[in-house]
Amino acid sequence: MNKNLEAARSECAGIGTQVVWAGEQVQHPYNATQTPIVLSAAYGYQDIDLWYDVALGKSEGFIYSRMSNPTVATLENKLCELEKSESAVAFSSGMAAISGVLHTFLCSGKRVVSTRDSYGGTNKIFEEFLPRMGVEVTLCDTLDAEAIEHEIAKGCDLLYLETPTNPTLKVLDIRRLVAAAKRVSALVVADNTFATPLNQNPLALGVDVVVHSATKFLSGHGDVLGGVVCGAESLMAQVRHYREINGAALDPFSAYLIIRGIKTLALRLRQQQQSAQALAEYLLTEPLVEAVNYPGLPSHPGHAIACSQMRGFGAIVSFVLAGGMDTVKRLLPRLRFAHRAGNLGAVETIYGPARTTSHVENTLEERQALGISEGLVRISVGIEETGDLLADLQQAFAFVHRELANEPASKFSTVLTERHTEVET
Ligand code: PLP
Repeated sequence: MNKNLEAARSECAGIGTQVVWAGEQVQHPYNATQTPIVLSAAYGYQDIDLWYDVALGKSEGFIYSRMSNPTVATLENKLCELEKSESAVAFSSGMAAISGVLHTFLCSGKRVVSTRDSYGGTNKIFEEFLPRMGVEVTLCDTLDAEAIEHEIAKGCDLLYLETPTNPTLKVLDIRRLVAAAKRVSALVVADNTFATPLNQNPLALGVDVVVHSATKFLSGHGDVLGGVVCGAESLMAQVRHYREINGAALDPFSAYLIIRGIKTLALRLRQQQQSAQALAEYLLTEPLVEAVNYPGLPSHPGHAIACSQMRGFGAIVSFVLAGGMDTVKRLLPRLRFAHRAGNLGAVETIYGPARTTSHVENTLEERQALGISEGLVRISVGIEETGDLLADLQQAFAFVHRELANEPASKFSTVLTERHTEVET
């Protein structure tokens, strides 16, 4: 599409309009209004010179879909506009995107600094795969900014941030940590999956590379896997080259589903965030709940930082149930409007304990070392009506309270009495 029209469109439009039109071409074959799903593995040329020029990148066009594909390219353009990025590269999953970035920029002898609270799969790359490649990894206490700065100052090639974190919703001060990384010329990578480009643009805060699991809020319907990496073309050219050879390209049908999902992202997120705030506030009053994690709560330790770098607090809430897994097993089956599953970001509300979702890859000992309690439950708040989600959670807790009341010898009775007193005072 005409670049000037594209720029004019994204400059003048509100975010709800941008998600619909960003990256979309207006002219498709047969005058189709929707991005076609181009399933061709390869692209044929009568003109051998043109074929050669396209292969060398001297002319625009496509050669082979592991390298680039028209449907995938539309998704990449869409993410570029939303993340205000020069370039983007799509992968077959969020983990493919994350490992693609880490493999592109790291090799034996390099040093990575990150935090202990990243998504469990990412944590596995740090703990298991990178050390095997001879990369030194230091994982700091997520909330100890001084310790992270100290480790960066010791020498660091890549700083990896995830904020808010999955599933504990910790918020990192992006500007502060970027400043520390820039002092030692480290590349900064940020996972923006939880915030989405609507709530946070890490590139605008100084981050070099943004990664997304498009499986989550971007696609929004829990029916596709994908990942996207955004950043300057000089960096994305390297990531694209890695993807070409590694082969973890996104398939065109998945790209189409993600494009379609992004068009309703603003509408979905508005409703989801309103409900997330309401559920988090209710959970604060629930005696069976030991802790509530949601950056939108003024009591959340990262609330002020979130206000300074995010436009909304997102649609994930997590909470810790007294009694651990036993209470989880009592509560979750009672919910009427919820999947109990290991995904997030979909239109349906999804509940899941960290043990079977974000940290399913980790052993009990590893989860304990990471401070992930067995009673930690994540809610991915869906687009259902706020009142219904609230009533559903309330009735599920009411059931558990009745059940516990009928078990006078319950091991939680003391805990509960103490919590009742705490919540009431
Ligand atoms: N990043 C975050 C924050 C995630 O929550 C996840 C998955 O849950 C991933 C990355 C990995 O994404 P995918 O499952 O698409 O590989």
